[in-house]
Amino acid sequence: MSKSYTIWTIGCQMNLADSRQAAEALEALGYIAAPAAERADLIVLNTCVVRQSAEDKAAGRIQSLKSVKRRRPSTSIVVMGCLVGDDLPALRQRYPHVDAFLRPSDVAGLVEHARRGIAEDLACLEGAPRNACPVAAYVPVMLGCDHHCTYCIVTLRRGPGRSLPIPQIVEEAGKAVAAGAREITLLGQNVDDYGHDLPGEPDLADVLRAIHDLDGLWRIRFLTSHPADLSDRLIAAVAELPKVCPHFELPIQAGDDLVLKRMGRGYTVDDYRRLVGRIRHSVPGASIATDVIVGFPGESDEQFKRTMSLLEEIRFDAVHVAAYSPRPGTAASRLADDVPPEVKAARRQAVEDLQERIVGEINGQLAGQAVEVLVEEPHKVRWKGRTRTNKLVFFEHPDDWQGKLAQVRITWAGPWSLLGEVTPAPRG
Ligand code: SF4
Repeated sequence: MSKSYTIWTIGCQMNLADSRQAAEALEALGYIAAPAAERADLIVLNTCVVRQSAEDKAAGRIQSLKSVKRRRPSTSIVVMGCLVGDDLPALRQRYPHVDAFLRPSDVAGLVEHARRGIAEDLACLEGAPRNACPVAAYVPVMLGCDHHCTYCIVTLRRGPGRSLPIPQIVEEAGKAVAAGAREITLLGQNVDDYGHDLPGEPDLADVLRAIHDLDGLWRIRFLTSHPADLSDRLIAAVAELPKVCPHFELPIQAGDDLVLKRMGRGYTVDDYRRLVGRIRHSVPGASIATDVIVGFPGESDEQFKRTMSLLEEIRFDAVHVAAYSPRPGTAASRLADDVPPEVKAARRQAVEDLQERIVGEINGQLAGQAVEVLVEEPHKVRWKGRTRTNKLVFFEHPDDWQGKLAQVRITWAGPWSLLGEVTPAPRG
């Protein structure tokens, strides 16, 4: 009888991609998805520690599996991802019911574990890694990161940047398309640093070109870009290649040069401004999303106000805002975490309020326009999909639209999503 598995995932798109690959690899070994997590033979927790809240969730999940292990000692519990650092003895002592700890992206290690038959139990794809949306697939192109942002634990856990060879990426993308994907997102912690470690030093523009003409592939995205590494050559490729979506995920993190310096980001606010200018010049209508950390050690009211002014000036299509939390082992964790929690919460709220207004105004301009939507899946009584600029669109229609391109006229535009009605014939 087949063994069953379940994978619980938290964190970034890289973790989602790892979990999808892990699920595929386990199924290739003959494992089947378990109908309930507690009844799986192999339980995999793919963890994240980028924020304290994510680490707390992962720790809670691991603890909750103690009772599963007690009831069914044959259950195999594997913890992988960024929670697994250098101090394995401490993890083993803290979680004696866990059978194996595997480094981030160590899908091969998981397969080996499963193959040895130690494995036993698992099945809740929280965050929907595997086939949550078969239409839009993630393909990692680069693991790790060569930057040393002072607050970041990812680089400590995932190590230096390692690029995957282009033929391997093309093969992975081809497999995803053959399985029904119409959109591929190329993933890397710092995706625009791709290739510097490979013979001949290809770059991400070369990867875009290499997968561009795959039959059946309609859209290509990439994330996350680092402002110091996003080259004019890559911007030109986005402008030139019709399948590449005009959307950039470009974390600024703060709008004050001193804070950026203490974060170790390697660019100034003016550098960032000029980069956005080049993107908007070369790719008119491009959407730009960013990340902001509020309450970094020493961030004054004045410095925070500069971040707010920059958000007002640049008018991003999305801002992912997080309150700073020190991560053990990082350089910033040795600085005094001196912005009180209530100030961090207020700054975070201020960013969210500002962004709600700005993106409401940006999206409002789409009302009455027809946009191309790649339909991903049904959502309650509606279809859900995205524009090329990554705007979420819902519409009602009796036909099966999954995996098709719809022309949708926008009838209502809010800050977080758009509503519309479908206009002529589906493609695909
Ligand atoms: S660019 Fe900075 S924040 Fe992003 S993964 Fe690398 S070190 Fe971390």
